[in-house]
Amino acid sequence: MVDLVSQYEKMQDEIDEAIISVVRSSAYINGPEVKAFQAELEAYLDVKHVIPCANGTDALQIAMMALGLKPGDEVITANFTYVATAEVIALLGLTPVLVDVNPITFNIEPEAIRKAITPKTRAIVPVHLFGQCAPMEEILEIAREHGLFVIEDTAQAIGAEYTFSDGRVAKAGTMGDIGATSFFPSKNLGCYGDGGAMFTQKDAYADMLRSVANHGQSRQYYHDNVGVNSRLDSIQAAILRIKLRRLDEYNAARQATAAYYDKAFAEIEEISCPARCGNSTHVFHQYTMILNGVDRDGLKEHLAQMGIPMMIYYPVPLHLQKAYRDERYKQGDFPVTEMLCERVASLPMQTELDEEQMEHITWGVKSYLKAVHI
Ligand SMILES: *Cc1c(COP(=O)(O)O)cnc(C)c1O
Repeated sequence: MVDLVSQYEKMQDEIDEAIISVVRSSAYINGPEVKAFQAELEAYLDVKHVIPCANGTDALQIAMMALGLKPGDEVITANFTYVATAEVIALLGLTPVLVDVNPITFNIEPEAIRKAITPKTRAIVPVHLFGQCAPMEEILEIAREHGLFVIEDTAQAIGAEYTFSDGRVAKAGTMGDIGATSFFPSKNLGCYGDGGAMFTQKDAYADMLRSVANHGQSRQYYHDNVGVNSRLDSIQAAILRIKLRRLDEYNAARQATAAYYDKAFAEIEEISCPARCGNSTHVFHQYTMILNGVDRDGLKEHLAQMGIPMMIYYPVPLHLQKAYRDERYKQGDFPVTEMLCERVASLPMQTELDEEQMEHITWGVKSYLKAVHI
């Protein structure tokens, strides 16, 4: 799905030098590279504070801890997402309240959020799924009306831009109270190991996030809160600084691949290409199609024989996952999520695909559909 070695080879000297320089500096934790990356990402996102941490799952957890969410509090999130979002809610003893998504954009549905609000609701966690922003204007409005926190899960959408109806443009992760992202290698901005970060415009939240991520301490050996230990390594920060300079170029390469796939499948009834929702750019963490009346396993097998990976993000809705089954929910309660889990398929999406590979991939898909027709 992702060719990170070819990407590395194009900047090998720069990366090797940066890694060796950190090794020689011995500033492995919280070194100058981490501070520099933090400042550069703040400038890129136009956000007041970036607080690096160990991974995207931690970023979500630390955000919820920093906002003071307590066991029993209800947190609304999308049912159609990666498990990490719901996992940290459950881990903190909060109650995950799942809502259905939009069948065209795959993102959380504002009307469904409204219906899910109770007196116990404290926060909404929209996920900018596959690289396109959730409807933030509506979500922020709901949050304002009901006094709720908004934590954006922007692990798949770093660099995406959202335009509000008054023309204001903001980057994914900078619109809610806190944004949480991941630098897992295959993400749009990925390092060579684990990494993550939180974003916020508010000084008070930034102080709290820094404290929680660092054993709850206010100054060394003074612990005001129960915290965790979650840090970004200096080596990863050095790599991220180099890749951040190329992020817009990488996202443009993903968009060009998406445009190629769109064009190749434009006339094919069995494929609904990913929709663009107008007020957000799409940075294509994944190119996820909806298959109409196609044997998905058959297509996957056919592509595998041609050496083409196809992935299902995600095959099982959260409410039907063994760990998250709950008497509040049953099969059929989330018709859109359940339909998507049965019909979505994601094609290879990364920064290094050339025309020949894209041609091979699209031919692979088309040849299966044609073969089935005969
Ligand atoms: C990757 C991802 C995460 C978790 O990030 P890690 O760095 O793997 O912990 C959380 N939410 C979403 C939507 C993701 O895609």
